[in-house]
Amino acid sequence: MILIKDSVVVDGTGKPGQKLDILIKDDRIAAIGSFPNQKVDVVIDALGLTTTPGFIDVNTDSDHYLSLFTNPAQQDFLLQGVTTIIGGHCGSSLAPLIKGTLESIRKWGDTSQINVNWNTMAEFLKVLDSLKLGLNFGTLVGHSTIRRSLIGEDNRDLSFKELDVLRAVVRQALEDGALGISTGLGYNHGRNTSYSEIKLIAELAAAYNAVYATHLRNEREGVVDAVTETIAVAHETGARTLISHFRAITGNGEEFEDALRLIENAPSGTNIHFDGYPFDYSILPIYTLLPPWAQQGSMETMMKTLTEAGSEGEIIRTLPVFRAQDITIASAPGFDYLVGKTLTDFGRSQELTQKESLIKLMKMTKLRAVLFKRNIDLSLTVKALMSERSLIASNSPSLLGGKNVLENERAVKTFPTFLERAKEFNKSFEWAIKKVTSDAAILFNLQDRGIIKEGAIADLVVLSDNKAVHVFVGGKIVVQDGIAKDLFNGKVLRRV
Ligand SMILES: [Zn+2]
Repeated sequence: MILIKDSVVVDGTGKPGQKLDILIKDDRIAAIGSFPNQKVDVVIDALGLTTTPGFIDVNTDSDHYLSLFTNPAQQDFLLQGVTTIIGGHCGSSLAPLIKGTLESIRKWGDTSQINVNWNTMAEFLKVLDSLKLGLNFGTLVGHSTIRRSLIGEDNRDLSFKELDVLRAVVRQALEDGALGISTGLGYNHGRNTSYSEIKLIAELAAAYNAVYATHLRNEREGVVDAVTETIAVAHETGARTLISHFRAITGNGEEFEDALRLIENAPSGTNIHFDGYPFDYSILPIYTLLPPWAQQGSMETMMKTLTEAGSEGEIIRTLPVFRAQDITIASAPGFDYLVGKTLTDFGRSQELTQKESLIKLMKMTKLRAVLFKRNIDLSLTVKALMSERSLIASNSPSLLGGKNVLENERAVKTFPTFLERAKEFNKSFEWAIKKVTSDAAILFNLQDRGIIKEGAIADLVVLSDNKAVHVFVGGKIVVQDGIAKDLFNGKVLRRV
């Protein structure tokens, strides 16, 4: 048994904190109160510290970038106090794989490094069970993942027969344990999905008491329409709905604020939230900067378009405007010396214009580079995070120990930064903690997590000034005095 002694316990429900002891037995909270005479194996003296439920990061990319496999400890997250992460967002999940390939995530990760020995969601979750993760992981099932295995690179409506298959595959994935369904409507493989098809899958989410999460069709101009559509889906289907990485794109602030107002004033009974992070940059696979007409088909097709005789001029002519100094190279497979350089630095060394340097980098890295693009209006985005409808998410992979990858603040300090910002907005600590714990657990229907009560799972974080000192996953101390212990006690979470 472990005793966390004398800390202020903030239980995740929003109730004011109270100085109490917490007794942990096996993986659960055995009792909360005062236990001066209890015989225990370990005492954590936490006087002056605060204990809260472990944080839940509702939107991470650790599956997309395959970091679950390359970095199963997920220490970037653990060291902040995150004990549960959710993946499978933006239309792409690692399962089910009807054709046995990871085609739909190739934009993010090098899939050749993984032994893909699963097809169904059930098989994938079993592989994760045996992998041993540093924290808990649950996944959505990706709509584009299924759609692409049905019709490949086509962008058409599904036939009735294909819709039947889609329905059956989504059902099976949910029965196998997926926590919900995601769409990636902003990506070229999801963009043309009809309203009725979206409604069909959101109805399945509702029927299975699962989540419907969406990467909006438009995140800049058109964000109001995209949000209006999503609210209609949520309202008509009753699905618990989550808008992914909601943020104000620079120059589009007014429309963003209109969209936020729509979410906040959604018709009563509509269960809609959004997730976001308090930073000013997006993480983008480089191909997403191509003009839409050149973003068709697989990576190979796009590469072919890019290198075809005569196409470069047309690409340069139709490239959206960007500022090279706002773009930093986060990874560039084969060209590690470029990591950390801005596109301006890169172009200067090559005596190229902004647009030429982008095209050159695309060609050199065969569209495999990942960029950080400073394109977010931070003050509007942080203000939105103070909404009752927000949840907090890094929307990042944990890449600690990853070679030749730029350090990414979103992976290492999303949660402490959010807690600081909430304080600046005069939000109570209890309010902020509820958002990153029980609000998230309720949306994803994670039983006995996100709350401190007798019988709940002992996923806990002991904080000093919003920084994690000790972290418990399933009753085991996995971070002690700020140092990760390389213990792998995470569980794979399945829909219940
Ligand atoms: Zn997305």
